[in-house]
Amino acid sequence: MNRQKSFQNENGPAVYLVPTPIGNLSEISPRQKEALENADVIACEDTRNSGLLLKSIGIHKPLIAHHEYNAHTSSTGILKLLEEGKKVAVISDAGYPLISDPGSELVRLASQAGYPVIPVSGSNAALNALVASGLETSHFLFYGFLDAKSVRRKKELESLKSLPYTVIFYEAPHRIEKMLEDVKEVFGDRQICLARELTKLHEEFLRGTISKILPLVSQLKGEMVVVVQGCPQQTDRSFEETVRMASELAASGIKPKQAAAKASEESGFSKNEVYQEMMRQKKEQEEQ
Ligand code: SAM
Repeated sequence: MNRQKSFQNENGPAVYLVPTPIGNLSEISPRQKEALENADVIACEDTRNSGLLLKSIGIHKPLIAHHEYNAHTSSTGILKLLEEGKKVAVISDAGYPLISDPGSELVRLASQAGYPVIPVSGSNAALNALVASGLETSHFLFYGFLDAKSVRRKKELESLKSLPYTVIFYEAPHRIEKMLEDVKEVFGDRQICLARELTKLHEEFLRGTISKILPLVSQLKGEMVVVVQGCPQQTDRSFEETVRMASELAASGIKPKQAAAKASEESGFSKNEVYQEMMRQKKEQEEQ
């Protein structure tokens, strides 16, 4: 059991988890700056990258490398700094440290040793993408990066495919096409939102089914987040009610195939079967 009162000894040693902008530098907040200014040392992934960012906001502090490959040794080094009474701010190249970035071992060790670990609010690519995706936001799962190898990636997707929650993935531009092909194969042709270059000049959102977005992705560059609709859940709606709903949507002006797809989306019935039945009933009515 470990209970932390973050602000009981503000002059004492502590770890501050400080997010940095994911693109637009004006998203740096007064509290983030204050935490960085008050730190004795800043632990960062890449001292050159972060050095430039910190210089641009007028912060000059000793930097230490804390990245994926040295996380264990640098965490123990940071613990020594805490023992000396130092305040350590942890940043990553962009966004929140620990979110698909290093820091979790340090947080575990520092909190176990009784040092406060204080999170500062800020930017995160996954949440920016989620809130603008147009997909369900009340329940979601952040997955981060899938495996780079297709066989392992499909296995991971198999374990996620029945979850009713919106799923958020990070992906590199050179893998996006193969990744989306695998998501389509395992999950089916769900609604997605591909969010690109968030907060930057070329910020863009592509919303639609995977099959509609796939032909465009080979031309897309930059940083990407893929938000995927959760597994459509079987509702209590019967097949007949689903067909009636599709017919009503079609009568309101939506194209029949789209109407069938929309009505079957939530009910779990096959959109083709709903469409065939809808057309059969329409023909029957016309013949009467
Ligand atoms: N810690 C970061 C965060 O809180 O979002 C994520 C770091 S992870 C190593 C980098 C990945 O985040 C990128 O490959 C991309 O998938 C996503 N990402 C980061 N910045 C982004 C941006 N401006 N637009 C879209 N995706 C971004």
